[in-house]
This record gives sequence, C-alpha cells and structure tokens, in this order.
Amino acid sequence: MNLEKILYKDELSKEEIIFLLNLSDERDLQKLFNRADEVRAKYCGDEVHLRGIIDFSNYCEQNCLYCGLRADNTKLQRYRMSPEEIIETAKQIINSGIFTIVLQSGEDNYYDTDLIAYIIYSIKQIADVAITLSLGERGFDEYQTWRIAGADRYLLKHETANPKLYSIYHLHQQLNERIAHLKFLKKLGYQVGSGNMIGLPMQTIEDIADDILLCKELDLDMAAFGPFIPSPFTPYRNKKPASVELTLKTMAVARIVLKSVHIPATTALATIDEDGRIKGLKAGANVVMPDFTPFPYREQYQIYANRKCMSDDPKSCRSCLQLQIESIGRKISTSRGDSLKMHLNS
Ligand code: SF4
Repeated sequence: MNLEKILYKDELSKEEIIFLLNLSDERDLQKLFNRADEVRAKYCGDEVHLRGIIDFSNYCEQNCLYCGLRADNTKLQRYRMSPEEIIETAKQIINSGIFTIVLQSGEDNYYDTDLIAYIIYSIKQIADVAITLSLGERGFDEYQTWRIAGADRYLLKHETANPKLYSIYHLHQQLNERIAHLKFLKKLGYQVGSGNMIGLPMQTIEDIADDILLCKELDLDMAAFGPFIPSPFTPYRNKKPASVELTLKTMAVARIVLKSVHIPATTALATIDEDGRIKGLKAGANVVMPDFTPFPYREQYQIYANRKCMSDDPKSCRSCLQLQIESIGRKISTSRGDSLKMHLNS
C-alpha cells in the first residue's frame, strides 16, 4: 500500500486503517501525525477547547474488569459530593474561564433523575455554559428529563466494538445495548461522545480499526481514544498498559477518518507519558479535559493508578495548560466548543 496516497484519501477502508495502525517506521509515523495535524487544523482550527471535569461520585453499580471504581473493589474509599459542592465547583470552573462542565460519576443511581436535573438546572442559571453528562447507562426517560433541564452533551464510551470482548469486559452489559443508548441520546439532540480504550487484554489492531469505524457510523460529535492503564484491586491489575505509540496512532488515524469531531488528549495519555498531552495535541487532538474535582475526593476517583495531576491545585490547572498549549503555537478557546457538526449544518 502507498502511505502518501492513503493519508490523502477522503474515505479509508478497514484494510487501510489497519495499515496505518501498523506503521512503525519513525519517518512514516511522523507523516501520519503531520497529516492528522493538518486535518485537525482544517476542520477544527488552532483553538484547544477545555472541559472542566467534576468527578462527583466514585460509587458504581457495574463491575467492568479494567476499572478501579468497579463495585467489587472494596479497597476503594467511596465518596459522593453534595449538590451544593458540585454547583460550587462548577462556579470555580466558570470563574477560571472554562465554558464546558463535565459532570462525571460511576453508574450511581443514588443521584436520581430529579437530583441530576436540579444540578443541571442550577448550573445553567449561573452562566451560558455547556453541560456534558458522563453518568454511564441510565434510563431513556432520564436522558430526556436531563436534556429538558439543560444538558447539552452526553459522553458514553463504547470501549470496544467487538461484541465478544465487550461482554467479557462488562459483566452485565452488551454492546448492542450501549449502541442503542448512544443512538437514543443523539435522537434527543445531545451532542454525543463515545470512543474506545486502547490496549485492553485480548484486543487486536482489527478491533481498534472497528472502533474507529463504529465512531464514524455513529456520526459522533466527540470521540475519545484513551490508553488502558491497569488499576490495582481489579482482575486486570497485572496486565500490560497500552503503548503510547499505539494510542497516538489511533488518535491520528481517527482524526483522518472522522475529520470534524472533537478528540481529547486524555489525562490517561498524560499519565503514561510526561509529554502525552502535547504529543496528543500534535497527533490530531483539539480538546483537553482538566480535572476540577476538589480535594480530598479527586484522589479517590481511581479508575486507574497514578492519575496525572492528582496532587495539583485545580485552580492552577488552567495556567499550566495555557503554557503547554501556547508552547506549540495553539490557543485556548474562549467559546463553549460545541459540536463542529453544528457549525457545518448551520
Ligand atoms: S468503567 Fe464506568 S461503569 Fe464500569 S466500573 Fe468503571 S465507572 Fe463503573
């Protein structure tokens, strides 16, 4: 296959995606990252969108094999933030000049439909910010209520497009159900985010190609490709972490295939590589999601081990990120950073 030709094609086949994911020569990799950066500049511009995350509960009713928040992890100290604490943290995010707030938790039905709706509505009264929910699979009627209350976006990663692997990793969940939730969220008018985890046990390059193609089929507004990092006290605690190179290749190929989609340089990537954020931003990413969860809770949101920036004061996060982003000639966006597809359609 001819690398240059593939990099400039408008539509890529699964075989071509696999070819790109298998690149290993340094010069070829640089060509791939450069092309992804070009596509990012064309479809997203040079602005980097910040999304302030509040991990408001680390309780979870699920038991995903790779995740430190899984219900069977009795070693984890659990917490739940009160609505007042969540709303106060949202104010701090807004005051630091960030216009998307991500409300994230495990699947925790303690926060029922009305309580989540109240939190969304209260934050929306403070400023015109976008609210992303990342609460796992919840009821279809709940999605509807929260949309009416003002939620703009929903993040629900599919993790793998391989149904067999999906049912191994997620003990009581099925891939077709997850896809049905994603489609329903889209129907309700949410800007929808999904994505995979790279380097999970038993996953192949073909699976990763299918992950990217599923993101395309779902016509996502945001797609996240984060590396697997083993978490203590989980069945996968002794498995190998994902490689930085494969993670960057996946992000770059995804950018070339998906084009006008938001792609984050994840905190997990920054955790396995000191320069992970910058490398991600140069390989197709246009979003960074700093964690604003207050102490002491932030240290207890242990999806995986040794998360980056855990000991940093959330308030100093923005200036640190600004320095990093400006060092590569990019700038922090001052907008909400809504779906790039909304602009295309308007
Ligand atoms: S991945 Fe999500 S649903 Fe699964 S155990 Fe972790 S927090 Fe719960």
